[in-house]
Amino acid sequence: MDEFSLIRHHFARLTPASDDVILGIGDDGALLQPSSGMQLAVTSDTLVAGRHFPESTAPADIGWKALAVNLSDLAAMGAAPRWFTLALTLPTADAAWLEGFAAGLRDLALSSGIALVGGDTARGPLSITITAMGEVPPGQALRRDGARPGDRICVTGTLGDAALALRLLEQPGLPSVLRQRLDRPTPRIAAGLALRGLATAALDISDGLAGDLGHILAASGVGAEIDLEALPASAHFNGLAPAEGRTELMLRGGDDYELCVCLPPEAVEEAQQRLDVPLTEIGRITALPGLRSVDTAGSLQAQEACGYRHF
Ligand code: ADP
Ligand code: MG
Repeated sequence: MDEFSLIRHHFARLTPASDDVILGIGDDGALLQPSSGMQLAVTSDTLVAGRHFPESTAPADIGWKALAVNLSDLAAMGAAPRWFTLALTLPTADAAWLEGFAAGLRDLALSSGIALVGGDTARGPLSITITAMGEVPPGQALRRDGARPGDRICVTGTLGDAALALRLLEQPGLPSVLRQRLDRPTPRIAAGLALRGLATAALDISDGLAGDLGHILAASGVGAEIDLEALPASAHFNGLAPAEGRTELMLRGGDDYELCVCLPPEAVEEAQQRLDVPLTEIGRITALPGLRSVDTAGSLQAQEACGYRHF
């Protein structure tokens, strides 16, 4: 099968007929009709085999994750998912691989209401780039630059699961829920939408809490204190994480795709009630710059606000 038949065959079902896609896959570009008065949030993320996912990852999980990391960025902007493009670089046009990949991609695309509207296909080492577009009412996007001293810092879900799964990958008996946290992250789309109008700043945690929170601190010109005891962990994490290194996994482990959110103190409870996922208060924004952690004894320790870096 040639490149174009492959695309048509595997990806056509990812573009449901709808009024807002005037022209989808098949022309030189897509023609899209944004809802009137809305702003577009646009984001791109690339997954490179062996770097962003283990080489052993199932094709369906790669398809899911490639879209999930982009939906997570839209969630962190408070944007409702609408359209995406897919730039796929493949060593070979393997029909079984493409079928699995398209199935995983489709599972998440259909359940989150986002339509594939175009892309590109090339031969080379396996790499997937998705550009996702979402809509947000003017002035309501969740940005990184609005955190203020006194705001509470909260995170959705639990931290460190994906990093722990990656560390335990080769060990027998890795619970599948933990492996799923690495392979099939859940983008917090509904949470992002519900936080519009409440959160002063937000981002998604892809490279570890400390580093990503550091982006909010830099953009907002503030500092933060994190209560190490308050960091939320899953039951599987508690059961399997080594006592030594546990905190590091939660602070610096990547691939969580949870949201880190700043909220005025009086908005925390309201936010917790609005969300479909647990929201845990883990610290506060300070006027004093820098990131510090607080342990059980109440002693402060400076933390480097850095996470995973490619370069
Ligand atoms: P061009 O040469 O104009 O870039 P292509 O031959 O690359 O066009 O693509 C033909 C059509 O197929 C375009 O509409 C493009 O958006 C779509 N397409 C190509 N690759 C993909 C892909 N991986 N996923 C979705 N659509 C794709
Ligand atoms: Mg092309």
